[in-house]
Amino acid sequence: MLEMSNGSQHQTMKLSKNSWILILIFIILLLFFSILFFFRSKPEYVSKVDIALGTTVKVVVSSDKDPGLIIEAILREFHRIDRKFSVTDPKSVISQINKSENPVEVDEETAFVIERSIALARATEGAFDPALGNLITLWGFDRINDSAFKPTIPSDSQIEEALEKSGYENILLENDVVILNNSVKLDLGGIVKGYAIDRGLSIAKEMDPEATGYIDAGRDIGIIGPKFGGEYWAIAVQDPRGDSGEYIDLVYLKKGAIVTSGDYERFFMMDGVRYHHILNPKTGYPIRETISTTVISPDAMDADAFSTAAFVLGSEFSAVLLPVLGGQGLFVDAQNKATYTEGWSFFKEKH
Ligand code: ADP
Ligand code: MG
Repeated sequence: MLEMSNGSQHQTMKLSKNSWILILIFIILLLFFSILFFFRSKPEYVSKVDIALGTTVKVVVSSDKDPGLIIEAILREFHRIDRKFSVTDPKSVISQINKSENPVEVDEETAFVIERSIALARATEGAFDPALGNLITLWGFDRINDSAFKPTIPSDSQIEEALEKSGYENILLENDVVILNNSVKLDLGGIVKGYAIDRGLSIAKEMDPEATGYIDAGRDIGIIGPKFGGEYWAIAVQDPRGDSGEYIDLVYLKKGAIVTSGDYERFFMMDGVRYHHILNPKTGYPIRETISTTVISPDAMDADAFSTAAFVLGSEFSAVLLPVLGGQGLFVDAQNKATYTEGWSFFKEKH
């Protein structure tokens, strides 16, 4: 009896020793796979910064294919769009249209961008106006980055004259032929960055549908895909009167676009007054009542035009109009006070 019981005790001890070894192996394997999963779930991001469309363009991409190739393709597209839609490059398509006294036949892409610009001008009751070229040249905001540029304030009569040669109603587009009536000139500066971002996002998706990351063209941001494949990107909205990097709000996005227009981007100071690059199409003068607008929308081109339009329209009107057009916005007035559309708070949470 005693021997038997000793034997069974010995067997139990042997069994439990084996179990311990098994548990240990299991823990080691679990640790090994957790480490493997941890590293697999946090893919590396490759980024590159370049200058295009008069601003700093940062492209951040993660892809199992070649992220470097995707970044290069996006930046090439930015430079191509920059050359094609520039108002200052005499070889650009926009310069050709602006110079011509006759109807100009344009390619499909140019027709598409002009058509969308006209549609967005209509949707924003002309607050976004792609035919302010004469006014913008008069103020010199198209040349403000040139070191030789000497700012002057145009006279009232010069502004009056340029105002008469402005207005999107004077752009006629039919069967890919553009006619500019009334000597108006195109300036697509308020939309072309958004268009370039949308193109960049399409290119990234074409090259790798699983790619993630974002494109940031001077605070105009388009999301290629969620961070690490599933997380939100935290996006800070610059305080228009703070130092670079100081922010007034933080939002979370996994997709879509967020675009900011500010009076601190392109401006000159004269006698203590800030003259900046967003003009009121009704008066021909820079807007004084708003200093910054930020718009979130599924599409960067829309967001770009909306942010310019909201700047002109002011917070009260924009808070009503924007959601109708499919955007949400944050508006900062001249007292540095921020107001929001009702739906803005949605982006302040990680859902
Ligand atoms: P940013 O270039 O700083 O992102 P915007 O997107 O608002 O700012 O674009 C401003 C540019 O749009 C100006 O530099 C000018 O070329 C053009 N622009 C200025 N006022 C208007 C307006 N009311 N509507 C459309 N375009 C405008
Ligand atoms: Mg804009």
